[in-house]
Amino acid sequence: MIKQEFKAESKRLLEMMINSIYTQREIFLRELISNASDAIDKIYYKALTDDSLVFNQADYYIKVTADKANRVLTISDTGIGMTQEELENNLGVIAKSGSLAFKKENESKDGHNIIGQFGVGFYAAFMVADKVTVTSRALGASEAFKWESEGADGYTIVPSEKAAVGTEIVLHIKANTEEDNYDEFLEEYRLRSIIKKYSDFIRYPIKMDVAGQ
Ligand code: ADP
Ligand code: MG
Repeated sequence: MIKQEFKAESKRLLEMMINSIYTQREIFLRELISNASDAIDKIYYKALTDDSLVFNQADYYIKVTADKANRVLTISDTGIGMTQEELENNLGVIAKSGSLAFKKENESKDGHNIIGQFGVGFYAAFMVADKVTVTSRALGASEAFKWESEGADGYTIVPSEKAAVGTEIVLHIKANTEEDNYDEFLEEYRLRSIIKKYSDFIRYPIKMDVAGQ
């Protein structure tokens, strides 16, 4: 299994996220839920013009699952998913609107609050997680792929399995340090309040599943 390197620009953004002293780390969830919602939108719009595709409202949702004992937070969606190529292109290179705007701004300003103003995107996951695993099956594909990274030193993509089309993002939540508490991102009440605060407008159901709480 070959570890691939992030592109230089992505690596810088990623390092900023990993070493973030930013207090509003909670926005990682907004970013992941917004991506999940975008992925469902893509199926929705495709269904408008593709007669072979029927959009049944009940089949499309986002799910947030917290497993405290294993320090794992999972965000899954039944959206359009990603092929191997898309995992490579979309998660290996961050050159997207929000992320880039953030990076540019940040060169001249102090990093605080700027993260809140711009969508920092997928890499925000690394503010709270020391390992991120994305398993995805694209619409129309029978196979799935797994993208995994423990930070700035790179990522791997390997074939995987997934029963349904969509994406599952598993965050291995960082251990608490003397200065920082990460446990809160595994607490149901905390997660609910973050979702209410930033993702209230999302037009698909956000289901919650919390083990042992
Ligand atoms: P942006 O949302 O601004 O494009 P992100 O960093 O948030 O940037 O995400 C990068 C890209 O990764 C998205 O544009 C999308 O193509 C892909 N992506 C991320 N999360 C998902 C998901 N849950 N389902 C499908 N594609 C996704
Ligand atoms: Mg996004």
